[in-house]
Amino acid sequence: MPQPRLGPYPAHPRPCGDRTPHTPLRPMWCCRADGRPWPCAEARLLLKAEFDADPAALTIYLAGLYHEAAHDLYQLNPYDGPTPRELFERFVAWGPFRRPIIDPPPP
Ligand SMILES: [Zn+2]
Repeated sequence: MPQPRLGPYPAHPRPCGDRTPHTPLRPMWCCRADGRPWPCAEARLLLKAEFDADPAALTIYLAGLYHEAAHDLYQLNPYDGPTPRELFERFVAWGPFRRPIIDPPPP
């Protein structure tokens, strides 16, 4: 049987200088720079800037990491982890063609 294709290596956003990059720590998928759930607000801003000329590539990258994160997080916590919808909102739905980087405050 063919094995499912693995998603991309989470190397984006690229590091800025010698600061700790806002890339995910696996298998928890928290940001290695600030400890927040990845992609943190800083990572989203950097990803939007880095993929500005190719939003389709960002969507594909995020969808691939959604697949990888679902694999890791459900292996870690099969009964009480985030729902697929929560993971989709976190990894994919904020990206190009969807929503602003940060949701507007409620009215
Ligand atoms: Zn971060």
